[in-house]
Amino acid sequence: MAGKRYVIVGGGMTANAAAQGIRETDRQGTITVIGSESHAPYARPPLSKALWKGQPEDSVWLPKVEGVQLLTGRRVAKLDRKAHRVTDDQGGSHPYDKLLLATGGTPKLLPFGGDAVIYFRTLDDYRRLRRDGKRAVVIGGGFIGSEIAAALSVDGRKVSMIFPEDGICARAFPKDLAAFVTGYYREKGVEVLTGDVPTAISGGSVRTKSGRDLAADVIVGGLGIAPETRLAEEAGLTVRDGIVVDAQLRTSDPDIFAAGDVARFRSEVLETEMRVEHEDNANTMGKLAGQSMAGASVAWRHVPMFYSDLFDLGYEAVGEIDSRLETFADWKIPFREGVVYYLRDGRVRGVLLWNTWGQVDNARALLAERGPQRDLKGRLPR
Ligand SMILES: Cc1cc2nc3c(=O)[nH]c(=O)nc-3n(C[C@H](O)[C@H](O)[C@H](O)COP(=O)(O)OP(=O)(O)OC[C@H]3O[C@@H](n4cnc5c(N)ncnc54)[C@H](O)[C@@H]3O)c2cc1C
Repeated sequence: MAGKRYVIVGGGMTANAAAQGIRETDRQGTITVIGSESHAPYARPPLSKALWKGQPEDSVWLPKVEGVQLLTGRRVAKLDRKAHRVTDDQGGSHPYDKLLLATGGTPKLLPFGGDAVIYFRTLDDYRRLRRDGKRAVVIGGGFIGSEIAAALSVDGRKVSMIFPEDGICARAFPKDLAAFVTGYYREKGVEVLTGDVPTAISGGSVRTKSGRDLAADVIVGGLGIAPETRLAEEAGLTVRDGIVVDAQLRTSDPDIFAAGDVARFRSEVLETEMRVEHEDNANTMGKLAGQSMAGASVAWRHVPMFYSDLFDLGYEAVGEIDSRLETFADWKIPFREGVVYYLRDGRVRGVLLWNTWGQVDNARALLAERGPQRDLKGRLPR
């Protein structure tokens, strides 16, 4: 009997983990991965961290999965659910028994600036940024903006950051911690323009709403991503800020799965729908999707963690890290080492482990507890 035909759209971390998950479960089936970038799958997190601290570029490549047909530089343009087939932009037609959409996200763009702005996401973006200019303007003060501003500063560039919030990562960190981090960046020599936005980009300069002109040899955009759901929408799958999946990571079509940045799932632990744009989610969800596609009996219950490095500050986090929630900070050394708890209706929804290591599983256990939680002081060792 011929083996099953597995097709994976997207050549990122989720796609690679899914191919592994399939291969572990089904040794016979054919696996085709179709990715629009010209590279084999690689890890994105080092692009804004380790590669700027001396780690070689070669370290980003992910392990090859045995017997995978990898088609790079091709974008899947059409999904025909009835015929069980996808078509790529070079006319290639790929029939499937089980299909995975691991299409990730597409950077949000400014309405001006065009190619002058590097919307930092890919290995090619990293290579371009490595080549270009001494004076950098980073637009955006969230996850990517804060990481890349620190990396460029460590690299000896003169960096200016501009974003509309009051402080760096203000949507995630409580107000006092965001203020501390913003001051910390300034001490490191980064010019930080809070409460301001770019209004025009021309001739190597970024004009701001407050009337500043920031000279720039290179401009980096970190404005977030939108989930890449076009194929799913056109094919009539259920989409709600992400492709909606069940606990087996199936979409509204049982032969089509989705995982990684693009997938919207229900978290059993947090009792809410969510979409997560982080590495642990890409790797674990990708693998589970592959196993599920290959017929294993699995269920998605994982609470993904994420992490970041900002100069020599670092953190790991789980759950909802959202500064709109009530927060309780348990510092060992204020803003240097401690735990921040995020609460709604008296229950812990998220835990930020600030320069505090080895506590991710304990934080997950805390999120899984039911009922009101009091006396958080000292709850997790700092
Ligand atoms: C610079 C950077 C640093 C990061 N650092 C961290 C970190 O420190 N910690 C952390 O937890 N997370 C981090 N992340 C997030 C993490 O890397 C992502 O969550 C993860 O890469 C998501 O993987 P994915 O495969 O789901 O999506 P993506 O990485 O977006 O990959 C999707 C791929 O599919 C391709 N594609 C899309 N549509 C099609 C189509 N129609 N046909 C063919 N191919 C298609 C895209 O070109 C892309 O290559 C970082 C991300 C970036 C960009």
